[in-house]
Amino acid sequence: MSESTEKIIRSEADWRKMLSPEQYRVLREKGTERAFTGALTENHETGNYHCAGCGTLLFLSGAKFDSGCGWPSFMIPADSTAVEEHEDHSWGMHRIEVTCAKCGGHLGHVFPDGPQPTGLRYCINSASLTFEKEKKG
Ligand code: FE
Repeated sequence: MSESTEKIIRSEADWRKMLSPEQYRVLREKGTERAFTGALTENHETGNYHCAGCGTLLFLSGAKFDSGCGWPSFMIPADSTAVEEHEDHSWGMHRIEVTCAKCGGHLGHVFPDGPQPTGLRYCINSASLTFEKEKKG
């Protein structure tokens, strides 16, 4: 993975062309997919989770755990520079939003109720991710 911190900037019209309506709603409009509806929530395959907007490697299957919350949950990002965290006071709650550092796409939120050793739960929309299964051999 490149160490480049160069951001990807695209017009909302371009994003709309590139992404599915659901990906656009989540990544660009900070939407949330309904719990237990995402394609990757119950995925237990070994492999890598990339940003659906820009392809950046975001999470590894080894950090995924069954949180029971209805969204893919990870203990830690693949790289601390891959994601950015922001204070989010929307909907009368105080949460920490997680975005892709490269393209700014909304991924989900991080909560302090995950398993040790990180104690964190990165609660991420399936629509924000693409999964690349590890190739065998
Ligand atoms: Fe991205």
